[in-house]
Amino acid sequence: MKVTVWNENLHEKEIPLVTELYPGGLHGYIAGFLREPDVEVRTATLEDPACGLAEDVLAETDVLIWWGHMAHDKVLDEVVDRVQRHVLSGMGLVVLHSGHHSKVFHRMMGTTCNLKWRDGARERLWTVKPNHPVAAGIPETFTLDYEEMYGEPFDIAEPQETVFMGWFNGGEVFRSGCTWIRGNGKVFYFQPGHETNTAFQNAYVQRIIQNAVRWACPIRRVELTCPHFEALEA
Ligand code: ZN
Repeated sequence: MKVTVWNENLHEKEIPLVTELYPGGLHGYIAGFLREPDVEVRTATLEDPACGLAEDVLAETDVLIWWGHMAHDKVLDEVVDRVQRHVLSGMGLVVLHSGHHSKVFHRMMGTTCNLKWRDGARERLWTVKPNHPVAAGIPETFTLDYEEMYGEPFDIAEPQETVFMGWFNGGEVFRSGCTWIRGNGKVFYFQPGHETNTAFQNAYVQRIIQNAVRWACPIRRVELTCPHFEALEA
């Protein structure tokens, strides 16, 4: 399995806490807990040529992870087109936290992806689909003592499955872990992961992202075309 972790890698250069919490940057840290004997992981960032997502990279990527926040508009539209084409042919896509406003996620949803937000809340996550592959090994509920609150209404396309719900100590709730199918590709969105909090150090958060990669990995890639088709039977 081949995974590419994409990160805009800008907060890392401005806020020392980010690299203190996540050595190697968010991309390096996430890549670190995804690497296994059967999982090959590479990273790509905004400053790489073609955002690190040239055609040959995506052609060799089974699952793309996306973390972005402050420079969504800097991602080239041609890169977004390319990512969408690969998702539609079967590449998995896992969008994390503030990636809800990435061009890539907007393209997948077709909606504003707006939500309520406030940093500095305690979150209780609930596993509402315990038999889902992304929930393997995750308890019915666990807490993150300090995470950014994302609250409903979350303006997304209606999910195929809502695997996790988040509750925050301000009273808000959120569909924190959702799945969609787009063409032949599987898409998962997961809410925890603010750059100055410790969510990605949490063993359950790591397990959910590991599970999501395995769930989203295509069995095969098939480009969807629209051919004129001759009858097979007389
Ligand atoms: Zn955030």
